[in-house]
Amino acid sequence: MRRDVLRNLKMVHKQNTAKDDRPVMVLPETVLNGISAIERAISKQTEWFKTWQEQVVVKHDISAFSVAALSDVPLGAWYQSDASLAFRNNPSFQALGESLNDMVAQVRGFLAVRADGEPHPVDDYTQFMNTLLDINGLVQQLQNDSWRGLTKMDPLTGMRNRHDMMVDLDNERERARRSHLPCSLAMVDLDHFKKINDIYGHVVGDMVLRHVSGMFSAQLRPYDMVYRYGGEEFLLCLPNTELDTAVSVLDRLRDKIEKTQMPYGPAGENLSVTASFGVAEIDTVEHITKTIERADQVLYDVKRGGRNVVKAWRGELTS
Ligand code: GH3
Ligand code: MG
Ligand code: MG
Repeated sequence: MRRDVLRNLKMVHKQNTAKDDRPVMVLPETVLNGISAIERAISKQTEWFKTWQEQVVVKHDISAFSVAALSDVPLGAWYQSDASLAFRNNPSFQALGESLNDMVAQVRGFLAVRADGEPHPVDDYTQFMNTLLDINGLVQQLQNDSWRGLTKMDPLTGMRNRHDMMVDLDNERERARRSHLPCSLAMVDLDHFKKINDIYGHVVGDMVLRHVSGMFSAQLRPYDMVYRYGGEEFLLCLPNTELDTAVSVLDRLRDKIEKTQMPYGPAGENLSVTASFGVAEIDTVEHITKTIERADQVLYDVKRGGRNVVKAWRGELTS
């Protein structure tokens, strides 16, 4: 593989540090690195506890320990470092921070000599064990959620794959029915994408796909859903969005894609791509496949009409 292409791939893999306008994305490798980092931290924390047990609990020697802050215990140091970035949106992460702080406070209590010179009460040890069990449970939860999340992630783009797509979309249809709020679905297909592969090769094509996927996430709201539907096709689900709003949001996105220069050419030169969009509002009394078919049908019209356009299905809804 050419060195410039490799360098570009690495830059796309790199998270949250991009100084240029490459979109920041959570990719499967970020999650896998996060899982490895937490495993290393757990193993260091286990060693730490072994020494704690031997020195403090058995020999009553506190001289080997100095714990002033969260970062003085291995899991705490991991928690506060960039290595935990992949977990920060998980609700268990917050709870883990609280339990780790409790643990540090309890450790500090054990390291302090009691004013009355008496040993620490058994209750303190019980409480400490409970905190450790909480920490263990929360860490396991984070790991399990990450593995489960990976099964739903498209390996190339980090977008959702089709694993639970129909279930998710049917939930959105049901939510729209109950709440009487609209929800729009869009099918997106990159234009003349075969040409990018033919001219620059598949690796460059992959980088363009990643870049455009990152733009979907960056431009849409956090609760909008982006699925990689197939090769260079995506399905977007925009809850609480009626058709006209969806068209204007998607047209801004389309315009942004068209104007974006992506530096993946053989000598680092810029490439650009356009995308075609077909959008339909969910009909809450029909099967969700009907909405997908409608969005697909207008997307087909866009392709026939010349591409790089957002078009809406404007037939009658039955609901
Ligand atoms: P149109 O505007 O009509 O959609 O033209 P197109 O060239 O985009 O459509 P076509 O269906 O002829 O080709 C799709 C191309 O997308 C061909 C295929 O190699 C490419 N593609 C699909 N998945 C991937 C992928 O994961 N990586 C890369 N690099 N290319 C892909
Ligand atoms: Mg296609
Ligand atoms: Mg295409």
